Amino acid sequence: MLKRRFGKTELHPTVLTFGAMRIPPNPDEEPGSARDRAMATLRRALDVGINHIETARGYGTSEELIGAAIKEGIIRRDEFILTTKITPADTADEFRSALDDSLARMKVAYIDNLDIHGINTRELLDVAVNPRGTMRAARKAMDEGIVRHLGFATHAPLEVIMDAISTDEFESVNLHYYLINRRNRPAVELAASKDMGVFIISPTDKGGQLYNPPARLAGVCAPYSPIELNQRWLLAQPGVHTLSVGASRPEEFDAHLIGVSRDGALSPDETEALAKLDGAMKVLGDTYCSFCHECLPCPEDVHIPEILRLRNLALAYDMTEFGRYRYGMFARHDEATGERVGGAAHWFPGTQGDFCTRCNECLPRCPLNLAIPDLLAEAHELLAGRAGKRLWK
Ligand code: SF4
Ligand code: SF4
Repeated sequence: MLKRRFGKTELHPTVLTFGAMRIPPNPDEEPGSARDRAMATLRRALDVGINHIETARGYGTSEELIGAAIKEGIIRRDEFILTTKITPADTADEFRSALDDSLARMKVAYIDNLDIHGINTRELLDVAVNPRGTMRAARKAMDEGIVRHLGFATHAPLEVIMDAISTDEFESVNLHYYLINRRNRPAVELAASKDMGVFIISPTDKGGQLYNPPARLAGVCAPYSPIELNQRWLLAQPGVHTLSVGASRPEEFDAHLIGVSRDGALSPDETEALAKLDGAMKVLGDTYCSFCHECLPCPEDVHIPEILRLRNLALAYDMTEFGRYRYGMFARHDEATGERVGGAAHWFPGTQGDFCTRCNECLPRCPLNLAIPDLLAEAHELLAGRAGKRLWK
């Protein structure tokens, strides 16, 4: 499999990384078969040519399963680059204790790449780079050789990602960036200008549950699969280095191998397919939201751009199921009490569209003069009804 230099780390991960978030057991799975599934998936990742495994302390038993696979000789430590992620802590001791625990769980002497996990707000960025807290522990671990490189993973607004990159404390960034969500392009470009490694989180799932595309989406991407076109678009950008595949079963790698079998600039046919994909947005007419974020902030914490982006996707590509899955992750009204409940805090901030009080504060800020409250009401009709849940804490 193709490899890319991961910026100044000088690591050379393959263009696909195995994201081990989904190897822990499902609640309805028998423990023995769940473990066999996890081991077989880890082994297959390396057998298809992947040389980078990525996990996090917060992904249930993922780190322990990697440790068990190493101990049992199912995978060899010298076969792969290892990344884990740890959330920032207030004190150096707290962070170090979490790091030592991760090393013990994975039964490894060192981690090639440690990401500070979830720099999702300005406050968390401050905690992460505190020279007497997390950063002190991270630098000490690097001096000791138990951490080779330091990066960060983020779901933050673009401005916070740009600030985190600009601290120059990190060698790589792990972020969301997809064909259907290009908002973070300036962050990818800034990272490239600083010779940082760029890792794309979950292009197939949060990039649109592309393993199960609606017919309309598949039609506009044809003759390519949506997974393949998304991969090609990402990897045609030299500043993008590796894409995670969050497989939970050995066979789930197969659909990801086609798009990474070729390299280089987009072909004329691929460019034509991308134009067809973008052209399908025309169906939205003058209700198309450009995802510029100028309308924020909203006093009711309605995430206007994200809701209208999901509306764009549902109407242009029939991605209603994906829209419901993401929309269900916003805070919502409790049916019985009307209170604000649910939501994924800083991992996916904001409230659903029916929190809009029609105060109209956002209207003058929208360069496209969209009738935002009406569009939010329509999006709520289309997308409400399924409470989403994060896979990990
Ligand atoms: S009109 Fe609705 S969405 Fe716009 S700022 Fe007011 S409450 Fe928020
Ligand atoms: S300002 Fe208008 S176009 Fe921009 S994200 Fe908000 S609603 Fe969409």
